[in-house]
Amino acid sequence: MRKPVLAGNWKMHKTAAETSSFVEAFAPMVAHAKHAEIVICPTFVNLPAAIGSARSTNVEIGAQDVFWLKEGAYTGEISAPSLTAIGCRWVIIGHSERRQYFGETDETVFKKTIAALDAGLKPIVCVGERLEERESGATETVCGGQFTGGIAGLTLEQFAKIVIAYEPVWAIGTGKTATPEIASDTHRFVRGEIRKRFGAEAAGSCRILYGGSVKPDNIKGLMAQPEIDGALVGGASLDPASFAAIVNF
Ligand code: PEP
Repeated sequence: MRKPVLAGNWKMHKTAAETSSFVEAFAPMVAHAKHAEIVICPTFVNLPAAIGSARSTNVEIGAQDVFWLKEGAYTGEISAPSLTAIGCRWVIIGHSERRQYFGETDETVFKKTIAALDAGLKPIVCVGERLEERESGATETVCGGQFTGGIAGLTLEQFAKIVIAYEPVWAIGTGKTATPEIASDTHRFVRGEIRKRFGAEAAGSCRILYGGSVKPDNIKGLMAQPEIDGALVGGASLDPASFAAIVNF
């Protein structure tokens, strides 16, 4: 049985005060949710506020990115050990916005994933195709390539600790959700790749989240698909009642 993960990616939203008010309003709304792991990923600078407010709750806090080295002359970067040191537990790696705007590649995704694991963070590694890739029938080639370049080089032991998020880029922030069937098809494909590389047991236990315009009114249909093990939620995770409705689907 795979325990769902419901993770909020706040991107570049909220101040520290807004972060604390959110967590204080949200945590009681999900206090009885034992069925899922609940994660919020604010900006780096708001991690301490989120971690402080989420203490003694069932909400865990994650970062939206990480650098692959432990320390050094890398102005502006944040290391994995510095994240674990403040109580951060998760990290999103390879989000399509990082790939699109900040030069993230499968190679850097791979290095960041290893660095995160070494520091004890739980990586949520993102894969997903762009609209033109879907329309040209390249979804499996793209997601398969991202899996091969960013994930397949892990050891079995490392792989067992990651979560994968399938996020079709055309569904992120657009209001166009992949139908549960479309999402499921790609999840099944990714699980097949996992089976080929890491074996049936690893494929059966890996959590694959869906991301792309998840809202309170479509989460139930998505979660009804046996292939979908949770969601990575952008816009709809910014409001406590909305994200709580998603968590309590
Ligand atoms: C995301 O940021 O990963 C995302 C899926 O955003 P949204 O839910 O707003 O589409």
